[in-house]
Amino acid sequence: MSVWFITGASRGLGAEIAREALARGHQVVATARDAEAVRRAFPEASGSLLPVTLDVTEESTIRTAVDAALARFGRIDVLVNNAGRGLVAAVEEASDAAVRASFDINFFGVLSTLRAVLPTLRAQRSGHVINISSVGGFASAPGVGLYGATKFALEGMSEALHGELAPLGVNVTIVEPGGFRTDFLDPSSLHTEPHVIDDYAPTAGATRTALAGFNHLQPGDPAKAAAAIVGIADIAEPPLRLQLGTDSVARVEAKLDLVHRELAQYRALALSTDLAPVNHPA
Ligand code: NDP
Repeated sequence: MSVWFITGASRGLGAEIAREALARGHQVVATARDAEAVRRAFPEASGSLLPVTLDVTEESTIRTAVDAALARFGRIDVLVNNAGRGLVAAVEEASDAAVRASFDINFFGVLSTLRAVLPTLRAQRSGHVINISSVGGFASAPGVGLYGATKFALEGMSEALHGELAPLGVNVTIVEPGGFRTDFLDPSSLHTEPHVIDDYAPTAGATRTALAGFNHLQPGDPAKAAAAIVGIADIAEPPLRLQLGTDSVARVEAKLDLVHRELAQYRALALSTDLAPVNHPA
């Protein structure tokens, strides 16, 4: 039995991960901007569930939630950084405020939560950090470049964290979901910008239209994603990255193919830029 600490557990993937972890007999600290939303989502709540208020943009709420988790369960084994929001706009269309707000939740919110939880995992010399990124954190596309930037930042940080924490007995996994049927594309979650530039209608505009039409029609099953995510915490050497969904696998494969092709095509040029080797006198 492990103690799970999950952000954004009021609905969507976070709530499903909490439900799956509870079903497997784990203890769960289900945090949300409004703990009442967790209580409503889990009316049958047992003593294994601790609903706590935590807004990832408010450091004091993170500290309070971690203290409550430790007071109740004495340890934290798995941290799931799940809270996040989408942003759809061409790079030039998005306001500075919207981009910073996205980074505040999707990147700095994770960083603040890590600072609050990692001292416990390091002291235990065990634990697992699961950072919910996106396929958009590995391969970007018109209209979602700035959302993707928040998740690219998350992935870059997570790769380094993986190397820093491995010697201390703590695992790190990045999860890259494709489209999963949650409220993610709903106006209650997805941020769209009022400022639209006609020149981007065939690119970012097309993405905006497609995503609106895709709301609550995504192919991915959040309950199956939750089962996969809870399952990887049982693996002795879990993966650094886990793709979820056929769409995610296809986009990651396409990106890897492109990178391989370009690397091969421009290999000679890439290798031509070192300084000439220095011949040291014998
Ligand atoms: P939902 O919109 O259904 O859920 C988002 C969750 O994040 C809600 O619980 C929401 O809380 C919470 N949240 C938002 N802002 C904050 C905040 N400041 N502090 C704490 N919690 C916050 O979307 P998903 O469940 O799909 O999204 C979960 C994660 O999965 C996100 O990181 C998203 O980027 C990622 N993802 C989702 C995909 C999908 O297709 N569903 C695809 C790729 C990645 P509240 O109820 O209070 O708003």
